[in-house]
Amino acid sequence: MAKKKPSDIDRVVQKAADAGVRLIRFLYTDNGGITRGKVTNVTRLYDRICDGIGLTVAMQAMNMLDQLAPVEGMGPVGEIRLTPDPATFRVLPYADKAAAMTVDMLKLDGTPWEACPRSFLKRQIKAAADLGIALQMAVEFEWTMATKQPDGNYVPLDETLCFSTTSMTIAHQVILDIVEALEAQHIPVELYYPELGHGQQEMTIHHTDPLAAADHHVFTRETIRNVAYKHGLYASLAPKPFLDQAGNGGHIHFSLWDTKSGRNLMYDASGAYNMSATGMSFIAGILEHLPGLLALTCASYNSYHRLQPHFWSSAYTAWGPDNREGAVRVASRYKSDEEGTANAELKAADLSMNPYLAYGALIVAGLDGVRRKLNPGEPTLVDPGNYSDAERKKLGIKRYPTSLKETVDALEQDKVLTGALGPLLTASYTAVKRLEYQTFSQQDDTYETKHHFWKF
Ligand code: GLU
Ligand code: MG
Repeated sequence: MAKKKPSDIDRVVQKAADAGVRLIRFLYTDNGGITRGKVTNVTRLYDRICDGIGLTVAMQAMNMLDQLAPVEGMGPVGEIRLTPDPATFRVLPYADKAAAMTVDMLKLDGTPWEACPRSFLKRQIKAAADLGIALQMAVEFEWTMATKQPDGNYVPLDETLCFSTTSMTIAHQVILDIVEALEAQHIPVELYYPELGHGQQEMTIHHTDPLAAADHHVFTRETIRNVAYKHGLYASLAPKPFLDQAGNGGHIHFSLWDTKSGRNLMYDASGAYNMSATGMSFIAGILEHLPGLLALTCASYNSYHRLQPHFWSSAYTAWGPDNREGAVRVASRYKSDEEGTANAELKAADLSMNPYLAYGALIVAGLDGVRRKLNPGEPTLVDPGNYSDAERKKLGIKRYPTSLKETVDALEQDKVLTGALGPLLTASYTAVKRLEYQTFSQQDDTYETKHHFWKF
């Protein structure tokens, strides 16, 4: 493994000194989808970037309830190194004298640990590049803002309407602070609006390459939660924080670009909906692998409360142009840049995902479709939930698995996805998710929402 150029490290140390930073967070996101980390004093920054910070191997067997799942080799013995990517350094606008970087999990010999999610994503980016494809990705952030009552219950920030200007007024100051905090971290915000659910907000950030997009995902989630907290609010990015309200999606947008010509490979002016054959095959791969892919993109017990028909979250293996009830929506292009704006989104995704695993698995599924030249079949032009069972059967449209347990089973059966994850990541991820399912399925809805509310 090539040593990082000293100049990269020097640059980060200098930046930290210039900004008066004292504490630098090394952030990783685990198999439970939780972002955790360790913090170095600035006095030790140079060495910690070179060597990383030690972490017990057991953390990749820990679920979102801090329960340790039984995974061979992930117990009290053994250690890895949280080794930061200097390119991700940013001063945190919401924490005094603090900065952060995202990390790779490396073995003591400096090579990527087989259970490292960020290294998994890097491998899939490489697999795409080997086919001449460079992806662009971005996630849409939906979240619910709430206050916490003395009895511990959360109450939505408002009870206003979808896209309501009243809601904009109520949330204005916190939203402004979130936008400015993201921009200060060089994360380009595109749009903001109040969403359908009480207290629900949505913000979109500009697409970039998958690794930077996943890093942005982590920093954006951190920023939304932390800035809201400074305003005395709780920002829940859980899939269904209030069971009687609209859920929070984390729709993943993607487009494919030719590594040589720089052209958008998904765009074909003569194709249906201007979508190329390659784009169609990529979508077909996602649909084919969807049952197992869901275990990674809709990754929590709470996710399956969100994925209901007629909630605009998608519940069926359908695709269509601007169809917001299909698993994959082919987005309409914008006239100012027809080619540049050709993209599709996976609606069956929420922010309890580990972005490195979810984006990586989406790439695996899509590339399988491209390699096999799969065809997604006819588009669905209506809400697939309005068809009868017989009609859906005839059209080959299937309801998603309705629990985390079923999708984890499907993931284990999916040799393409597990082949790319490798044995250790597959074993640890499925064990963590099974333990989450086992615990939550023995409890009631109140326990479920309480324990998901502020984890993501
Ligand atoms: N809140 C919806 C979801 O759960 C998405 C609404 C929309 O933006 O279309 O995915
Ligand atoms: Mg939305």
